[in-house]
Amino acid sequence: MADVILVLNAGSSSIKFSVFDAHGAISDRLLYGQVEGLYTAARFTATDRAGTVETTEWAQGAELGHRGAIEHIAEFLKAHREERHLVAVGHRVVHGGESFAGPVQVTPEVIRELEKLVPLAPLHQPHNLTPIQIVSQLRPDIAQVACFDTAFHRTQPETAQAYALPASITARGVRRYGFHGLSYEYIASVLPNFDASAAAGRTVVAHLGNGASMCAIVAGKSIASTMGFTALDGLPMGTRCGNIDPGIVLYLLDELKMNARAIGDLLYRQSGLLGVSGVSSDMRVLLASDSADARFAIDLFTYRIARELGSLSAAMEGIDALVFTAGIGERSSAIRERVVRDAAWLGAKLDAAANEAGGPRISDASSPLSVWVIPTNEELMIARHTQATIGGFRAGGTPRG
Ligand code: ADP
Repeated sequence: MADVILVLNAGSSSIKFSVFDAHGAISDRLLYGQVEGLYTAARFTATDRAGTVETTEWAQGAELGHRGAIEHIAEFLKAHREERHLVAVGHRVVHGGESFAGPVQVTPEVIRELEKLVPLAPLHQPHNLTPIQIVSQLRPDIAQVACFDTAFHRTQPETAQAYALPASITARGVRRYGFHGLSYEYIASVLPNFDASAAAGRTVVAHLGNGASMCAIVAGKSIASTMGFTALDGLPMGTRCGNIDPGIVLYLLDELKMNARAIGDLLYRQSGLLGVSGVSSDMRVLLASDSADARFAIDLFTYRIARELGSLSAAMEGIDALVFTAGIGERSSAIRERVVRDAAWLGAKLDAAANEAGGPRISDASSPLSVWVIPTNEELMIARHTQATIGGFRAGGTPRG
């Protein structure tokens, strides 16, 4: 019977799942899918190597919720067991705080520690913890591993992690944590296959999805990133504002009399590409739009990327490679072209045909800065961490140790 690892990536309105063979060098997913619209009109899809195997839809307003979704995924996996034996579940958890610098096997104490971090990521952390708690109840015999978006950044120097605030505040854990770490770690792990000298040197990875950030990586280790205490900082995103002067928050409080909840909603859900364009948070829609505000939203997005690229290059005292990844980075040749053009001063020269074709290398042979498109794979990273954390398997599929 084949031992498998289940990876769960739970957000506020969806849960994605992937199933990997637990043995050997973990590579392709055997099966994957998601439940979207958990609190509106839920929809389940599952796909294996041969194509879609199941689609289920719930009525509008049926509110499946996180528990209902996990139970549905569990029932589906049971029904499609096909000689598979589940040995561990790996979870994406956005915040590992200061203490978790790597993946950890879940215990009741770990859950208590992770619950303490909810105030640091109130929009994400509770959704990540819910599936852990549900699996603990449904299958207490199964090993669970939490993998953190912050962990990869714990190698950053103290100056990159600190804010210039009084010690009475920073001692409470107010520091730059950085996010998208599982994506950066995956890119760092495969970069040697694309550009061995850059992998040993200085690379900026631009993870441009709904959430967007950039990370400076030297010899495989994070040394700086654009996200800070929360996932609001840095680049403008689909609906998040990115870097703004904190004085704006004081203005919103004092002059516009907004409360913390309204400000949170403004900065997380009504800003970024959506707020500026008034059209959409989806880069595809903005690129196809002839609205001047949509064009300005794109200008602001690429301008901020150019500024952050300069800043991260300064932190590394130079740059050898630039990597694009995530939804926009992997699929939008137009955005990549603009970013590479803005990086001409760093030595970037675009190979237009390669860029249109989607890479992997999109800089021309004479470009001193090599530029790449590399699809990210956070789920694979979680599966690898889960395998390594539980330390292999005995015959029969029982986790060791
Ligand atoms: P998430 O951060 O939610 O994981 P993704 O990495 O999947 O997001 O990126 C989603 C975003 O990618 C979408 O909002 C969309 O704007 C963008 N995107 C996807 N395909 C394209 C494309 N062909 N051109 C431009 N943008 C795209």
